[in-house]
Amino acid sequence: MSVLVMKFGGTSVATLDRIHRAAKRVAVEVAKGHEVIVIVSAMAGKTNELVGWVNETSPMYDAREYDAVTSSGENVTAGLMALRLQEMDVPARSWQGWQVPVQTTSAHGAARILDIPPENIRAKFAEGMKVAVIAGFQGVSPEGRITTLGRGGSDTTAVAFAAAFEAERCDIYTDVDGIYTTDPRICEKARKLDRIAFEEMLELASLGAKVLQTRSVELAMRYKVKLRVLSSFEEQSDEAGTLVCDEEEIMESNVVAGVAYSRDEAKMTLISVADRPGIASAIFGALADAGVNVDMIVQNISEEGRTDMTFSCPNDQVMRAEKAVEAARERGDIRFNDLVTDTGVAKVSVVGIGMRSHTGVAADMFKALSAEGVNIKVITTSEIKISVLIDRKYMELAVQALHDAFGLDKAA
Ligand code: ADP
Ligand code: ASP
Ligand code: MG
Repeated sequence: MSVLVMKFGGTSVATLDRIHRAAKRVAVEVAKGHEVIVIVSAMAGKTNELVGWVNETSPMYDAREYDAVTSSGENVTAGLMALRLQEMDVPARSWQGWQVPVQTTSAHGAARILDIPPENIRAKFAEGMKVAVIAGFQGVSPEGRITTLGRGGSDTTAVAFAAAFEAERCDIYTDVDGIYTTDPRICEKARKLDRIAFEEMLELASLGAKVLQTRSVELAMRYKVKLRVLSSFEEQSDEAGTLVCDEEEIMESNVVAGVAYSRDEAKMTLISVADRPGIASAIFGALADAGVNVDMIVQNISEEGRTDMTFSCPNDQVMRAEKAVEAARERGDIRFNDLVTDTGVAKVSVVGIGMRSHTGVAADMFKALSAEGVNIKVITTSEIKISVLIDRKYMELAVQALHDAFGLDKAA
């Protein structure tokens, strides 16, 4: 019998009524003859609330306890979904990550899935169970502690189950009806894509488009999972939503496929550090040890053997970063005159595999931003993306201007 994976995000299980509607959709697939693995997120807003409680209790928290708390939201929805299905006479049971078990690394708060042995669930399917409801976002470490997979991690749970069970398809049900050229909530001209290449989706996700967690796209690409994003709010056909697929399966595409943004970034500058071998290593080694995710890095031209070093990181890691850098200074590993922190920046990026063969995308991007009077603070590029750091108050404006400049409202 073929296995189908259906994942329901936070807004799709936000109330008992929404869970009921999601369960009806699952029942339709069971009636078509599928065995279904349902992955659920916590109810909308629940994980944010739990994260808030942790931060309020312990700002420099023990990540193992962060996971113990934040994983709990999914346990509630998994149980409720199984109960709702049973009420509809669909044989179902819930599983928490450790029960499956979803085996992960010990990197608490950002664990990676190592393996999902399918035997336990297969045995239940063989006994007549039709739906396995899995609490997304969570797993168990080799030490036997509960782990979580990073924000948005239920997407990754879904794709990992689809790979482990060789599912026919992995459907990600969410609050938008597919993947758009940019976030439809901040750009009304955003256009829904029928298909998007894995590599483009991977970049968009890692640059902030939260519709899919980055790691879920990586896994889908590696294990050739047929991955689809669609709305849980509308009636759906088998063709609905957006398919994430290989580049070769897409006929025409724009040079720029999409625009992504990341709202809560911070820029930090160490003023006047020594310009000699080992300094970058001392700074970024200390930040890495403290678990800070450094993104962009810029080093100024040096004057009289001293330079300024600028980097960006998520806003909520600023305190960790400041502590790490100060501790390195106290140990005598680095010296600097001042540490300047700007917590009011955002990152805006354009992404497209067409950039490999087209020149001038950066020039067009900078022109569009300057026409709106948006000042660029930091720039980084790779083969298929260009990112800029700008003042957060211009973020929406920048996204809309770039969407217009690259004609993304029209198909190629
Ligand atoms: P879920 O709770 O279902 O996992 P998320 O909030 O994590 O949903 O992701 C869906 C949201 O992603 C949408 O509501 C939308 O605002 C946002 N988003 C950002 N970029 C895009 C994009 N390019 N296409 C579609 N949605 C996007
Ligand atoms: N509930 C978790 C979060 O909000 C995981 C998820 O929804 O994918 O990040
Ligand atoms: Mg999500």
